[in-house]
Order: sequence, then C-alpha cells, then structure tokens
Amino acid sequence: MSNSTAENLVSLRTEIPANVQLIAVSKTKPVSAIQEAYSAGQRAFGENKVQEMEEKYAALPKDIHWHLIGHLQTNKVKYIAEFVHMIHAVDSLKLLQEIDKQAKKHNRVIPCLLQFHIAEEETKFGLDFHEAEELLQSREFIELQNIEIAGLMGMATFTDNEEQIADEFRNLNNYFHIIKSHYFKFNPEFRHLSMGMSSDYKIAIAEGSTMVRIGSTLFGTR
Ligand SMILES: *Cc1c(COP(=O)(O)O)cnc(C)c1O
Repeated sequence: MSNSTAENLVSLRTEIPANVQLIAVSKTKPVSAIQEAYSAGQRAFGENKVQEMEEKYAALPKDIHWHLIGHLQTNKVKYIAEFVHMIHAVDSLKLLQEIDKQAKKHNRVIPCLLQFHIAEEETKFGLDFHEAEELLQSREFIELQNIEIAGLMGMATFTDNEEQIADEFRNLNNYFHIIKSHYFKFNPEFRHLSMGMSSDYKIAIAEGSTMVRIGSTLFGTR
C-alpha cells in the first residue's frame, strides 16, 4: 500500500457510515504510525496483546480509547484494567469475573463484548448461543457490578465466499437482536456489534455492524 495512513483514513471514512465506529487496529505497528492516525483525528485504536497495549498507552496521548480486540488471558487483566476502553473478545464467566474484580480496584465499570463463534473454522474461542444464554442467566454473572455487556463481537470465516461471510455476519446480527430483547431490552449500553476487518468490513456493514476493526487497509500489511 503506497498511500499514507492519513490518506487511507480519509478514504476509509468516506466508506464507513456515520453510525459505524472505526477501530484502527495498530497491533505490531510502531507508535509513530499511531501518532500519524491520531494527528488525522483517529482516537479509537485496537491491540491484541496486553504488553504491547500497555507500552503504547504509556507513550501516547491519554485521550486515546484503547480497545483490546484479541483473546485475553485472565492473569493479564490487571495490567490494563485501569485504562482499557473496551474488551472485545470475552467468552467466559471466569474472564468476566476477573475483569470485574480488577475494574473494582480502579473504581471503574469496564465495557465488554461477548465473543461469538460464527466461523466454520475450529477455534477454542467464542461462545455459541446456548453458552451465551447460560452465562447471562447465571447467578454469578448477575452479581457482577463492575463490568457491563456492551454488545457482541465475532469474526467470519477466512474465505473468498462472500455469501458465506454475509451469512455468518447475519447470524451474529440475529443473535445480537435476540440477546438484546431477552436480556438487555431496557439497557441502552448494550448497543455494539463489533464485526468486520480489512477483508470483509463492507459485508459486515451491510449486515448491521456498528464497529469495524481495521488494520492492514489503514496501516499497510503486517
Ligand atoms: C488483527 C485483527 C483485526 C484487523 O485485521 P486486518 O485484516 O488487518 O484489518 C481485527 N480483529 C481482530 C480480532 C484482529 O486480531
């Protein structure tokens, strides 16, 4: 990609509707790349490693919103609880309980997205609908006070088959609406549907995404 990050940001903004938030995925990219996007007005950045996020948080302006988008290990929550803006890939009660515990120490409520497994690929990450319902109905979940479920997140299969990608995002959007109506009907904080990356964000937006996580289209290939 020969364009600058600032130029890529301008063209991405013309493609992304105003009701969809762009999370600039800066993993593996240097602080200088984030600074360039920041100067062009970008404030939401996504990282998938705790240590890398901590280092970048320390080096960069404090009005940046840091989104942890990758799998989070329970023993690392304590390092980001003070500043993380949103945790996208939550898929167990155990992790939610730890986020709650660490958030409490900082007198915060941390917004979390439940990760759903929608792709055909085998992975140990992500909930199915039944597991999500079990979690949301559990007494342990209901007792948590320092986390807030702000919506759902998912990743489509890595394939050229756009019909399949669209189907998977449509499934996630259906889960979003069912879970909203069953568990969060009167909770305006449950409103985010984090789906879509560089290769499939246009499909995701057509299928109802409210948050796209875009790395390589913005910063160049990793
Ligand atoms: C790396 C990553 C992205 C961004 O991927 P690109 O293809 O570079 O846009 C989005 N979401 C998650 C969870 C990621 O790990």
